Amino acid sequence: MRAVVVTDSKDKLVDVREVELRALRQGEALVDVEYCGVCHTDLHVAKGDFGAVPGRIPGHEGVGIVREIADDVTSVKVGDRVSIAWFFEGCGHCDYCLTGQETYCRQAKNAGFSADGAMAEQCIVTADYAVKVPEGLDAKQATSITCAGVTTYKAIKEADIKPGQWISVFGVGGLGNLAIQYAKNVFNAKVVAVDINDDKLALAKDSGADLIFNSKDQDPAEWIQNEIGGTHATIVTAVSKIAFNQAVNSVRPTAKVVAVGLPPETMDLEIVKTVLDGIQVIGSLVGTRKDLEESFMFGAEGKVVPVVQTRKLEEINDIFEEMEKGTINGRMVLDMSL
Ligand SMILES: [Zn+2]
Ligand SMILES: [Zn+2]
Repeated sequence: MRAVVVTDSKDKLVDVREVELRALRQGEALVDVEYCGVCHTDLHVAKGDFGAVPGRIPGHEGVGIVREIADDVTSVKVGDRVSIAWFFEGCGHCDYCLTGQETYCRQAKNAGFSADGAMAEQCIVTADYAVKVPEGLDAKQATSITCAGVTTYKAIKEADIKPGQWISVFGVGGLGNLAIQYAKNVFNAKVVAVDINDDKLALAKDSGADLIFNSKDQDPAEWIQNEIGGTHATIVTAVSKIAFNQAVNSVRPTAKVVAVGLPPETMDLEIVKTVLDGIQVIGSLVGTRKDLEESFMFGAEGKVVPVVQTRKLEEINDIFEEMEKGTINGRMVLDMSL
């Protein structure tokens, strides 16, 4: 089969090669991959930012059809459409796995990083961890929900926002745009979108944001406090320390600040404000299988519509280059049939 493989060279991050798959083991399923979205995380993996993984097949926004199952598998059947997500599998028996927090399992494996992922014509998955893609959800759009969708949906759940309350989204690129759609169309919240890019803010407005604010030259925290008296919660997807600090200052008392973006820095947290205003700062990592199932359902109902564009597997290095330049709008999705 054709597969994208991480190289050990700095000039060309990945190669497209012929790879032979091993035989299925107990508990596994073989998936014919239809589509796989390309995420910034894949670029980090290819560059070795989380540790070098030469030979690894990247890809954690995969969707495909089950072709074969091991004889003990009962959770999926041949012909099912399933996803291949960043949370590839947990141990199944630790405190986190047993209490609905499986993404924090210390033994968790991640597709495309610690297990071979979906940027290939076929992928072997742990069957119990392959979440079914419901009828009525476009397979290309499902790839984005597998990662950005479930991540933002889970973050809003953590924010505990109620209908009619205000939530802000700092950073309205791929992740933030889906956050706006889930916040508006699923949680019935009112949304403030904050970014430094006018095009992204225009798209945020089209996606349902009630208020938009360009924070390039002005302080969004002060504006949000004046305009609506602060938000009840905020989701920070921006990869910027400044955005995190602005987000904390833009909320009202007892608000939750949910951190999703991963700038490699520390944030400033004023202890007096945190205590006197009862602010909660929460990290949120992707989502469980149940979260993904719910995220898919809202996609199938048309409440959340990711913007995707298909490309050939062989274009992966070009896509990574475009990603580095920041010229991508919407999600690039590898189409294995091209
Ligand atoms: Zn991703
Ligand atoms: Zn576990």
